[in-house]
Amino acid sequence: MALTGLQIQKLLPKTNCKECGSNTCMAFAMKLAAKKAEIAECPYASEEAIRVLGAASEPPIRSIALGPDRALILGEETVLYRHEKTFFHQTALAVNINNTDPPTEIKKTMNAVRDYRLERVGETFLIDMVAVSQTGNDAEGFEAVAKKAWETTGRPLVLRSTSPAVLKAAAVAVKGSRSVLSAATPETVDELHVLAKENGHALAVTAPDLDGLFCCASKLRETGFQDILLQFQTLSLAKEFQTNSAVRRATLKDAVKPLGYPFLRFLNPSADLLKITAEAVTEIDKYGGICVLPLFDPALMATLMTLRLNIYTDPQKPIQVEPKVYPIGEPRPDSPVFVTTNFSLTFFTVSGEIENSGTSGWLVIPECEGMSVLTAWAAGKFSGVSIAKFVKEVGLENQVTTREIIIPGYVAQISGELEENLPGWKVLVGPQDAADIESFVKNFLSKSRM
Ligand code: SF4
Repeated sequence: MALTGLQIQKLLPKTNCKECGSNTCMAFAMKLAAKKAEIAECPYASEEAIRVLGAASEPPIRSIALGPDRALILGEETVLYRHEKTFFHQTALAVNINNTDPPTEIKKTMNAVRDYRLERVGETFLIDMVAVSQTGNDAEGFEAVAKKAWETTGRPLVLRSTSPAVLKAAAVAVKGSRSVLSAATPETVDELHVLAKENGHALAVTAPDLDGLFCCASKLRETGFQDILLQFQTLSLAKEFQTNSAVRRATLKDAVKPLGYPFLRFLNPSADLLKITAEAVTEIDKYGGICVLPLFDPALMATLMTLRLNIYTDPQKPIQVEPKVYPIGEPRPDSPVFVTTNFSLTFFTVSGEIENSGTSGWLVIPECEGMSVLTAWAAGKFSGVSIAKFVKEVGLENQVTTREIIIPGYVAQISGELEENLPGWKVLVGPQDAADIESFVKNFLSKSRM
């Protein structure tokens, strides 16, 4: 938990020697509290001060980096609600494969995970992980399936078995993938943490209840091992919601360090698709670290990735595209010119509708700080003056021969101002709704040809 300036000042030498660049120890303490200085700048800071300040500045939820390049990061969250700041590292989605599944099914799922991609608002999303689970007592093929999953998908794995020996063989086989071993209990934590450490994997700990999980994570922390995930065993949706919320709150508000790690949850494999969706949605909404889906379903995946994108964008920074003139299709110099704002959702909706209309055109996107049309207009960022200025700056008049520009119907009121500031141009008021672009384009084109 963050310390106040007064609490920090009590840890400093209080000699006011000024060697840190501050006039007093109190002034330096205030800078430390505001994270505008480092304790290393005080040459006389005691070991105790360094230790306490170091612990206080630890993120309440530790980050875990997975994958060979450590590109999949979980945890390091700082707030309960996204509107307080933002959530940083989105819930990783994994698809489960059982070692006893028919080989054709295993191959099909691995290929589906490898090939699945969702394009949305200019970004491409892939499935993050594959889980390989040992079914019952049958360890047959576990190591081989794990190895194949890693080779086929290149994604980090979650290796799940109750047997340390089975986990060991697979952990060694996929060394370098920086995967997760699932899961250590109080009885196996000593053995498994050595295995995880030696092979560069993270380790999930599990217990039937939170007290047990706390004890197991505490035991693991004492070894100095920090690549920990908390694996809950609750199967009811209500308990999933409660547990995730209670642990996040305990971590952020009460600084319960042994619970300050990302979560891992295997969804109930015997549930129907609706229940699986509800559980997965709860994981994404309520702080999930890794959510293991019991099956691959492209519609479910698209739904979850879209939800996740919404939850894990910074609510204070709208997603936006680069301001410039975008060719849509294969436009000619006399193709129609549209203008809208650089809010990603607006851009992709409008560009998609222009494409769907069967025509090619130019889409002018001025800088609007990622606001939607009406918001940008109300904030003075999407006016006749600003659009005209942008058109001149990007040299659109040299790029196209048409002198007609189509503005969104919601800002019909700027048409006069835009014509005034763009001499020689005619402003056409387009539809309010992007879905009506197709009919507008057809009418517009047919009229212009008459
Ligand atoms: Fe105080 Fe240390 Fe700064 Fe000196 S260098 S004023 S002891 S904080």
